[in-house]
Amino acid sequence: MIRQLLKPHSKRWFDALANRNVWQAAVTHQIIQWTRSKRVCSLCGKKPARDYRLSKQSFQEGTPATMRLCRDCFQAAQLARGDELQPLPA
Ligand SMILES: [Zn+2]
Repeated sequence: MIRQLLKPHSKRWFDALANRNVWQAAVTHQIIQWTRSKRVCSLCGKKPARDYRLSKQSFQEGTPATMRLCRDCFQAAQLARGDELQPLPA
């Protein structure tokens, strides 16, 4: 079964995130406005950031959650939530 991965910070990604966590979607949207870049961390706006799949979470049935994270947020997410974060191919 092929599970669809949404590219972080794309329109469809924002739609999926808003369904699941409207507050996070608003924060990330604001970060992208401030930094004027989509190549930044979804949580704090730092660069460089890379894409991860959150294996224990999903936006909705059949759509695994993805995030663009800097090194600090990647480590914090692993510690805080025990998420298994898998790097996505660039
Ligand atoms: Zn970050």
